[in-house]
Amino acid sequence: MAYNALKGIQDILPPDIHIWQKIESVAREVFQRYGFQEIRIPIIESTDIFIRSIGETTDIVEKEMYTFPDKAGRSITMRPEGTAPAVRCYVEHHLYNLPSPQKFFYSGPMFRYERPQKGRFRQFYQIGVEAFGVSQPSIDAEVIAMLKNLLEGIGLKEVNFELNSIGCEKCRPDYKNALLKFFENRLSDFCPDCQRRYNTNPLRILDCKVERCIELRKGAPAVAEHLCGNCREHFNELVSRLDLMKISYTLNPNLVRGLDYYTRTTFEVTSEHLGAQKAVAAGGRYDRLVEEFGGPSTPAIGFAIGMERIATLLKEIWSDEHPSPKIFIATLGKEAEIEGFRIAEDLRAKGFWVEPNYAGASLKSQLRKADRIGAELALIIGENELKAGKIQWKNLKKGEQGEVEIKDIQAILTDNIQPSNP
Ligand code: ATP
Ligand code: MG
Repeated sequence: MAYNALKGIQDILPPDIHIWQKIESVAREVFQRYGFQEIRIPIIESTDIFIRSIGETTDIVEKEMYTFPDKAGRSITMRPEGTAPAVRCYVEHHLYNLPSPQKFFYSGPMFRYERPQKGRFRQFYQIGVEAFGVSQPSIDAEVIAMLKNLLEGIGLKEVNFELNSIGCEKCRPDYKNALLKFFENRLSDFCPDCQRRYNTNPLRILDCKVERCIELRKGAPAVAEHLCGNCREHFNELVSRLDLMKISYTLNPNLVRGLDYYTRTTFEVTSEHLGAQKAVAAGGRYDRLVEEFGGPSTPAIGFAIGMERIATLLKEIWSDEHPSPKIFIATLGKEAEIEGFRIAEDLRAKGFWVEPNYAGASLKSQLRKADRIGAELALIIGENELKAGKIQWKNLKKGEQGEVEIKDIQAILTDNIQPSNP
């Protein structure tokens, strides 16, 4: 019986995993400079948390959630995103009592029952950040700058920042009405999803990917014309901070995002190298959510990056930069193998990646294997070497070779290889 991973769910293996680790380590380093600390939040939560926050009429809640009853009949959902659990955590632990702002990051798998395709999986990974407690647009700008530094830090340059404001609970109703009026007469030409959205969530018509709907919505009223004074001021200030930092962006009046909790600033980072699934990160402000979860009124903003899509982009840039063993120890005979075992431990303590020969094999096949696994240096111990207290060495990249006393191995290492990074 052969088993396969579930549809839309993939294993992440070496060498790809090294790209993932690099993204994670750069992210940690950048987040630290901005004061974002890690939180580890659960993968499963009570279903209401997501319905309440993401919104009943969104794609995620309507059709994408992995929801099941646990053994006691409670409705459990495997998290489709990280913001709702982070807000639940913030409120549950009364983190609003700590000095404001509180800034966090998390990383891990998310689950959405979507149609699997390039760049779209049912289990996918995000690194996300959330900053609680600042209403000023300076934090919007800071979070966007942090994201830009992260992407540049991992070597991604050709990305576009798209930016919009979707207003607040004061100005959005007015904008919704303007949209309803615009769509009213041509509704029957829109796709069935949009016809439904007209009644449930008209803003989301702006987000529809169907060609015909894109055509039909041309000329729809832009949200910018309907922002209230405060929202407009917030947005203008954000834009001027981005200008100050020389961060370029495109204003995209259709960027409404697929989750209901957003207010004011929304943004997305896209790449033209990815095909249809081109968003690599997305985020925005959610000033009402903490209160909706039972906490005090607390403005907040965050973003999440999609690891698979970023890793796909990076794969092209770093194809050859994967770690490989520094030293292979080839041995002939039991006694030599024991000496090799001792030397391997000694070299590992010095920080080298060492692969020994485990099972007896000819020297030729051991060296062939050393080459195949990408080792830089082979140390060869046979019976004669053992008796003489010596070791043969071969630089597998340059072809040079020689002999050295075991006690002088260090000189060979310094000449031939760099210690591996811890
Ligand atoms: P999309 O428009 O691609 O469906 P989204 O608006 O649903 O994205 P968010 O919920 O904002 O996405 O998630 C942030 C990021 O997570 C996305 O920009 C994307 O990079 C990644 N992402 C979202 N859904 C998936 C998925 N099913 N598979 C892989 N990555 C995903
Ligand atoms: Mg989606």
